[in-house]
Amino acid sequence: MRNIILLGAPGSGKGTQSEYLVKQFGFTHLSTGNIIRDNIERKTPLGVLCQQYSEQGQLVPDDIMIQMVENHLQTITGDLIWDGFPRTIIQAEKLDQLLQKLHSKIDYTLYFEINEKKIIERIIGRLTCPTCGLTYHKTALPPKVQGVCDNDQTPLVQRKDDNEAKIKIRLAAYHNDTAPLVQYYLNKQVLTVIDADMEGHAVWDQIMAVLK
Ligand code: ADP
Repeated sequence: MRNIILLGAPGSGKGTQSEYLVKQFGFTHLSTGNIIRDNIERKTPLGVLCQQYSEQGQLVPDDIMIQMVENHLQTITGDLIWDGFPRTIIQAEKLDQLLQKLHSKIDYTLYFEINEKKIIERIIGRLTCPTCGLTYHKTALPPKVQGVCDNDQTPLVQRKDDNEAKIKIRLAAYHNDTAPLVQYYLNKQVLTVIDADMEGHAVWDQIMAVLK
């Protein structure tokens, strides 16, 4: 079991590159944002717990997130892409412990570095499939047929937290709670910086250069 963490601000392209990695290598994509949105949609108790936080752009409390990840880990085998977890130092420490118990470790942390103006452009234009979680962009990465998912033909939606007011809150949470993880993984000597300002293919090439 290999573990690859994708670390970066909201809208830095982690989800898009995860999809490519799943397609190319059959990695398992563990996106805590997708898990949360799926639970909200199905109105599960977990969804009810997370809804307020996530739709307002705030982080869901660590204890809820850690429990969610522990449950999920029991159902997963193979190489894993961690997208959206860990997002705080407490989550990162817990992940180290969980992986240690599984005799596993973090192999790579890919840090998606990006300019903030670009983030806002990307998120405001983002369209998401509520069924499979695939993301598109209205102009930069449109679906083949306007407004519907290429994968399962579900009508695409704009996420409730994908607007300028909520992006400000999400970026503040990122700077406060998540950005310190760059130093955390640098210290562990597993961090590689990816220039995420570039468009899709150029980002992919950088990732390939690391994973080859
Ligand atoms: P993005 O990277 O585009 O901001 P995600 O889909 O990864 O979005 O996450 C959406 C929301 O889900 C976050 O704003 C937060 O409310 C919640 N969330 C996801 N992962 C975590 C986490 N590890 N810790 C706390 N909250 C999380």
